[in-house]
Amino acid sequence: MRCVWLADETDTAGWRREARALLRAGVSPHEVSWGVAGALGDAPAAGPLRACEPSPGLFDAAPPSDDEVPAGTPAAVPAPRVPASFLTLADSALLHRDAGRFALLYRLLWRLQREPGLRGDPLDADWLAAQALAQAVHRDQHKMRAFVRFHERPTPEGPQYVAWFEPEHHTLASQAGFFQRRFARMRWAIFTPDTSIAWDGHRLHHGGPDRREEIPTDDATQALWLTYYASIFNPARLKLATMAQHMPRKYWHNLPEARLIAPLAAAAAQRAEAMVKRPGTVPHRRRAVCVEPAHPSRGVMPAASADPLAALAIVHAHIQACTACAHGRQATQAVAGEGAPGAALMLVGEQPGDQEDLQGRAFVGPAGQLLDRALAEAGIAREAVYLTNAVKHFGFTLRGTRRLHKTPGQQEVLACSRWLEEEIALVQPTRLLALGATAARALLGVTVSVSASRGGPPRRRPQDGREVHVTWHPAALLRMPPDERERAWARWVADLRTAASESSVAR
Ligand code: SF4
Repeated sequence: MRCVWLADETDTAGWRREARALLRAGVSPHEVSWGVAGALGDAPAAGPLRACEPSPGLFDAAPPSDDEVPAGTPAAVPAPRVPASFLTLADSALLHRDAGRFALLYRLLWRLQREPGLRGDPLDADWLAAQALAQAVHRDQHKMRAFVRFHERPTPEGPQYVAWFEPEHHTLASQAGFFQRRFARMRWAIFTPDTSIAWDGHRLHHGGPDRREEIPTDDATQALWLTYYASIFNPARLKLATMAQHMPRKYWHNLPEARLIAPLAAAAAQRAEAMVKRPGTVPHRRRAVCVEPAHPSRGVMPAASADPLAALAIVHAHIQACTACAHGRQATQAVAGEGAPGAALMLVGEQPGDQEDLQGRAFVGPAGQLLDRALAEAGIAREAVYLTNAVKHFGFTLRGTRRLHKTPGQQEVLACSRWLEEEIALVQPTRLLALGATAARALLGVTVSVSASRGGPPRRRPQDGREVHVTWHPAALLRMPPDERERAWARWVADLRTAASESSVAR
């Protein structure tokens, strides 16, 4: 039995190096036992590990080089062939907590050298097991992005934003880049029971575990977040089962807003009934004062409000007061985006409609209801995506007492693009889905035909290189004749599903 000890649970480079050397030496999977040096005190998860009790000097040994072949092994076999898809799969699966992952992946790698048909076999037990591990890790990474909540902690160098998170797998280090990019201008740290990472504005620091008690729980950032959460809670849309599905209860004890769910849910029926009984909304024009960005070059988010939720609330307040184009002087109120920072998918429509203008919420009119149906059919929770428009105020022409939708021109789209870019910068979606040509033009900066671009997503260059899926606006489907709409419906839902699956949005 050959014993291989990796430096730690996330030593993927070590696993690759050892697997390559073993493969070249022709060591079969059942002759290898894998272990983690840091976990020696723990009981071995698999039987063969017992045969690998550490020998003196085990950890002093230098790791084998790529070309090194362990002594006493059979004659070398040809250089290993490793498909790129396997490497991608292995990089994720190796972060799983399953103690058998190293052996499973080496077995798969070994078999790939000898079974040409294995790569295309969707029912192979080893493939399925490795894919299940990788998927669990992806889910854990997504949950970390969605459920990390920062708290403000005063330090002599200024405020530091700290968070406590309990990942299921060894995913913290793999997400360091995500948090570094998003919160580049703030000092932050994320602590877990196993390890921690901290960003000081210049460098990432990896450290040991910390204690949950070290995280403040009564800071101003949390108070602001709770106020915001309560204000966007819609009693008429309450679906507790769906909510628990997308926000599993095991995360609740670290989510400040979780404590609001029970009282808000308890009052929901009464509030929804009161909403139904309330007379129709009478347009109430808000006094708009044009507010210029606090930092025109960087946007409206002041450095002190680096918390994305707080920053998003500030951006929304600025949008509400904006009168940079004629729409702002005509509409009842602005309709900013809806959804939480970290949503993997951002849907961008054209502009609010009549109902949205009156209610102050995105996608609540007939087109919004059609979108809700399509999202449900595509298995996408509305709460899991960020919904917004390219232009934030309703533009219309008056016909008697009727307000008829007027397509925004290039001038309005350009004037409003700064708000859209602010939302993208704060939400940091993985994928963008443009609903209609106006949204596509706002995101890509060029005119794009919806039907021509449905084949493959163009990228936003020179902005941020994000892929932009383009599909119809729901209002376009509403305008189609019934038989055409029926044909378009399946393609539209498929577009939503594709964008969601490529962005790994929670379903
Ligand atoms: S549509 Fe956009 S740019 Fe025009 S006033 Fe409203 S927020 Fe400002």
